[in-house]
Amino acid sequence: MKKISKSEIATFGENTRLVIGGRDPSDHHGFVNTPVYHGSTVLAPTVKDLLSHSQRYSYGRRGNPTTEAFEEAMRALDGSAGVVTCPSGLSAVSTALLSCLSSGDHLLMIDTTYQPTRTFCDRVLNRLGIEISYYDPLIGTGIEELIRSNTKAVYLEAPGSQSMEIPDIPLIVAAARQHDCTILLDNTWSTPLYFDAFGHGVDLSIQAGTKYIVGHSDAMFGVVSASRKAWPALKKFYGDSGLCVGPEDVFLALRGLRTMGVRLRQHQDSALRVAKWLASRPEVQHVLHPGLDGDPGHALWKRDFKGASGLFSIILQPAPDAAVAAFLDELKFFGLGYSWGGYESLALPFDCSEYRSATTWNPGGPGVRFHIGLEDVADLIADLDAGLARFRALSIS
Ligand SMILES: *Cc1c(COP(=O)(O)O)cnc(C)c1O
Repeated sequence: MKKISKSEIATFGENTRLVIGGRDPSDHHGFVNTPVYHGSTVLAPTVKDLLSHSQRYSYGRRGNPTTEAFEEAMRALDGSAGVVTCPSGLSAVSTALLSCLSSGDHLLMIDTTYQPTRTFCDRVLNRLGIEISYYDPLIGTGIEELIRSNTKAVYLEAPGSQSMEIPDIPLIVAAARQHDCTILLDNTWSTPLYFDAFGHGVDLSIQAGTKYIVGHSDAMFGVVSASRKAWPALKKFYGDSGLCVGPEDVFLALRGLRTMGVRLRQHQDSALRVAKWLASRPEVQHVLHPGLDGDPGHALWKRDFKGASGLFSIILQPAPDAAVAAFLDELKFFGLGYSWGGYESLALPFDCSEYRSATTWNPGGPGVRFHIGLEDVADLIADLDAGLARFRALSIS
């Protein structure tokens, strides 16, 4: 096999980059995959080598060939200047925020962010003397009025957690740019395949690798990728904070990454089919899926995104909790649980009203979030059909 240079990799299609990025079998006796390097101490042959840090690897915490393979593969995919791996998605969120904020700074945080991200802001950043204002995801140019002289960072997440709103990312980025703010984006739902964070001017792109990168619900993982401007501070903070990920989990993340393109395509296709079917049902008031015609976020999604993944929500007709439980408890293929992005389908009842402040959550019926896995769509629809019959039987009409 001919060796491919890193600069040449950028010219290939995204699925090719997913397959070849961060991989050099000639470094590993011809084995296709980079092995799991367990280790803390890295020995140097001489005192001179040890003290001059001339070796490629110096200490386990500072990285090994397994972590480096992942970082390179992610860079090949997302075109970032640098990548760090974190032990969870939430630690990727906290790492990105702490890399660019100091006491006295002000952060503009999207109101529809993942709830634990909000808790981190309110309980940790706040204690460190960082001011936080939450903004409506549909604020548009109104973001200008919220930017203060000490606003250092603007944080986006798209679509909104559970409620699925699509913000006008280019508008918000342009306003933030003008004031030289660092722009952060939680890109977990789209992955770099369906939203080009750096092409849209983002500085720090965060992914809960636990979801589509790992893809099999068998590891916790997080990634922060940085623009050229944000990379030095991220790299420094990451090194100073002592974060590192066990090599087995990095291996699982890298293994997941190789097949993420085909998996996402199937998640997208199946989720759209299930979402359209749900939209036709009388028990369902609204389907919140930006890929559907008629969704309030559809036009922006179509303009800015390259695809939709397998996660969306519905708002049911008003009904007692028992009806929702009857719907979900007996489903055969939809597990009840947190997280998503694995090969299996999941369902989760939700109510955002406790964790929103710039917007009001009052959808007029119970919310359920679905992750559509890789099962056959006909089986999923039959399962939901039976579930909706149970829901109807316990609904008060
Ligand atoms: C799950 C999730 C996270 C957190 O990831 P963990 O690996 O569970 O810590 C962050 N952001 C979004 C959008 C998520 O869905």
